[in-house]
Amino acid sequence: MLKIVCQKIFKHRYLITFVGECVGLALALVKSLTVFVADMLKLKSILEPICSSNINEEKHLLPNSSKETMLDPFGASVVADYERLYKEFGIEPFKPLLSKVPNPSFYMRRGIVFGHRDFERILNAMHKHEEFAVLSGIKPTGEFHLGHLMTAKEIIYFQQQGAQTFYCVADIEGYEDNKIPFEKSERIAVDNVADMLALGLDPERSYIYRQSKEIRVKDLAIIFGRAVTLATMKAIYGERHIGLYLSALIQAGDILLPELEEFGGPKPTIIPVGVDQDPHIRLTRDLAQKFHRKYKFIPPSSTYHKLMKGLDGSPKMSKRQMNYFTLHDSPETITQRISNAFTGGRATIKEQRELGGIPEICPVYEMCLFHFVEDDDDIIKIYHDCKTGKLLCGEHKKQTIETVLKFVKEHRRKKKKFIDKAREVLQLE
Ligand code: SF4
Repeated sequence: MLKIVCQKIFKHRYLITFVGECVGLALALVKSLTVFVADMLKLKSILEPICSSNINEEKHLLPNSSKETMLDPFGASVVADYERLYKEFGIEPFKPLLSKVPNPSFYMRRGIVFGHRDFERILNAMHKHEEFAVLSGIKPTGEFHLGHLMTAKEIIYFQQQGAQTFYCVADIEGYEDNKIPFEKSERIAVDNVADMLALGLDPERSYIYRQSKEIRVKDLAIIFGRAVTLATMKAIYGERHIGLYLSALIQAGDILLPELEEFGGPKPTIIPVGVDQDPHIRLTRDLAQKFHRKYKFIPPSSTYHKLMKGLDGSPKMSKRQMNYFTLHDSPETITQRISNAFTGGRATIKEQRELGGIPEICPVYEMCLFHFVEDDDDIIKIYHDCKTGKLLCGEHKKQTIETVLKFVKEHRRKKKKFIDKAREVLQLE
């Protein structure tokens, strides 16, 4: 009997060895998968809070926090809950599209770009290497600040992805909304455009213009005026003076400018903006449909980024509260503003070591997340070190000040070289 068993084992020894190796391999695979899933869950638990502004149950710690969500491109916009924007404003979440973007931007990867309208159309053009355009701009009211920097990086990103690029200096809006005379906004515009060029906008592949000098934009506004009632304007923008309604129609002209025959005709156009600009997008998409028969407009697509907090922790950067800095403030001013910034830190070092900080409500953390920490692993480390009490606010502010001052110094050095070019593209003597 034993002899027979031994003979059988000998006969099938290769098969037995093979089965044994398979079992070993399967066990090793299960082990690796377990480690991988555990790592992913850990990463998810770190990234999710970073990318969401709504997860902190300690939201009451945010000064001036409000339960209201209000989108007003001409006033103070407050977004207490980004989820509400999906339900009530019809903005689509960006996250489901992220894996389809060929080379997602820094803001897309980090969930700072959180919403969109019709971005699939742009994705389609990107995948098929078809023509598409990007348009965004600046209201020339003063020096470049971190809010401007976000839009600048987004427009440059789409230019690098192959978009025909349009950059608008919204001087009519600056006049109507902020009472900035055109002579003054002209000077500011040179400065702002030089900032854009220093950040990497390629002027040879961009159409850069001032609203007040672009007759086609003003013509479109006049044409659109016939299709919009006062009641519609009030419903979208509230009770405003006529100049602001006019500037909204001019913005619609800006947004649809890339689709005119002179620029190659109708094409998908992406407008990357802060979510407070959504009323302009809604108005323009409606006008694109109303004038489709005449111009064959394709309704513009948009992406929306989250709004940066003020350094005092209030929901928005504001000139009146001086709760931000510009790229042209002195090193002393920048140092002072960051040093005095509100944080998500605890009352004492002991408490912070024990309980950890609250990066979700911290403008210093937000500055790093939105602008000054490029590497995703580094920002995850900051988040983790803050949460676990390893990083203290004083130390973190000091590091951030150093990074910001280094960036600002380098940016100014580059910008100096672009002043003449900025004057040239704006067609100023
Ligand atoms: S350690 Fe940094 S991220 Fe954390 S609360 Fe303090 S300043 Fe903010």
